[in-house]
Amino acid sequence: MAIRLHDSLTRSLQELRRPDPTDPRDVFTFYNCGPTVYGPAHIGNFRTFVVNDVLRRLLELEYGPGKVKHVRNLTDVDDRTIGQAKKDQRSLAEITRKWTDLFHADCAALNCLPPHVEPTATGHIREQVDMIEVLMEKGNAYRAPDGSVYFKIASFPEYGALSRIKERELKVTNSAFDADHKDDIGDFALWKAYKPEEDGDVQWPGPRTAAAGRPGWHIECSAMIKRHLGETIDLHTGGVDLLFPHHENEIAQSQCCNGTIFARHWYHSEHLLVDGTTMSKSKGNYYTLGDLVQKDFDPLVVRLALLQGHPRKQQNFTLDSLHSADKALTTIHSYWQSLPLKADRATAFDAVFSALHDDLNFPAALGAFFTVINRGPSGVAKSDCEKVLFALGLGREPAKRPDRRIPDAITAFAEKRWAAKLAKDFATADALRKEIAAAGWSMLDRKDGYSLEPLKKA
Ligand SMILES: [Zn+2]
Repeated sequence: MAIRLHDSLTRSLQELRRPDPTDPRDVFTFYNCGPTVYGPAHIGNFRTFVVNDVLRRLLELEYGPGKVKHVRNLTDVDDRTIGQAKKDQRSLAEITRKWTDLFHADCAALNCLPPHVEPTATGHIREQVDMIEVLMEKGNAYRAPDGSVYFKIASFPEYGALSRIKERELKVTNSAFDADHKDDIGDFALWKAYKPEEDGDVQWPGPRTAAAGRPGWHIECSAMIKRHLGETIDLHTGGVDLLFPHHENEIAQSQCCNGTIFARHWYHSEHLLVDGTTMSKSKGNYYTLGDLVQKDFDPLVVRLALLQGHPRKQQNFTLDSLHSADKALTTIHSYWQSLPLKADRATAFDAVFSALHDDLNFPAALGAFFTVINRGPSGVAKSDCEKVLFALGLGREPAKRPDRRIPDAITAFAEKRWAAKLAKDFATADALRKEIAAAGWSMLDRKDGYSLEPLKKA
């Protein structure tokens, strides 16, 4: 069953290329713009990474093991990473290492497969400089008076094809940056000359005639793609906020440098709203994964909540949507556990996969999944359900919340206290209640028994 995805360049549903199964060198190449590692990623960022993870899983199921190569970068040098290093009085490497580690931990908790290659911008300075030199030789880029290098958008007539941005809007959007050094206000930086007051000790030797400095942000993806996936890739994805100018600029740089088509297919996922509005710290609706885990939500529940909307539509995320995802995940897992190892019907989940293959229609896929679940386990094999759980990345059992697991010693105390209470030995019962409370639990008596709850931490 072919995978069809909306292509942002042609604005139509297009079938993805299928690599030749008989040619071991023919793999499907997939690039996804990664995070800038200067702070914790928020759940809006993770919506994009979770969507891309389901896509990666579907591609692997469809094309077979070893037939997909997934690359996602880490932006570890730019204004924000340098700014954060200065603020924290740490080296750039220390800051980016710290936030890369947290990003990896969050991705693992959300059950996202690691990309096959995860290149960094600072690890590919040579490749970026090489590309800028080619663009300068070909007349697509020029050195500015301060030693920076800019891409000349007038040299690439197709500029704007992806975003359909009009020339006038382009001038307004790009004009905010370094207007004084550029030939044309719409041109963008490939290389930024070193500024001692801003850049601290962050600098590298530049392209031939340029000053020492650091790469502009856009060139890193073009250079890393060329190095790890080649001049033409099958699929390039990212959040819709990257469509302009970042992806437009990637196309211009790569196609002018390599003289060939850059990406066969472009896919963009939409923004996540929280409580009906854009996320911001001042509105109090800004969440990292850590914030939600502190509220006692399992990361896998967060993952399921992020899969509730169609990836190409804005999705509204609320704490209520997490509570429903929590219940839904429990239902999914108990259904899965109830299934027999073998069954006759291997087609129970076909509708789930057709929905996923049809432009990642998550709401339809989850709807079809619950239709099967509601029919009950009869005739459905565990392994077929596991294929769905693999595709959605929901196969891991949610981690047991440590504060909800009642230690054996507490249960033993509770049993003794209940017996004492029934025997009307209230002194012993009281003493045991205190012991239980000291261990962080509260025993709630009912008519016919008791329950144990963790005491709320002050
Ligand atoms: Zn990129």
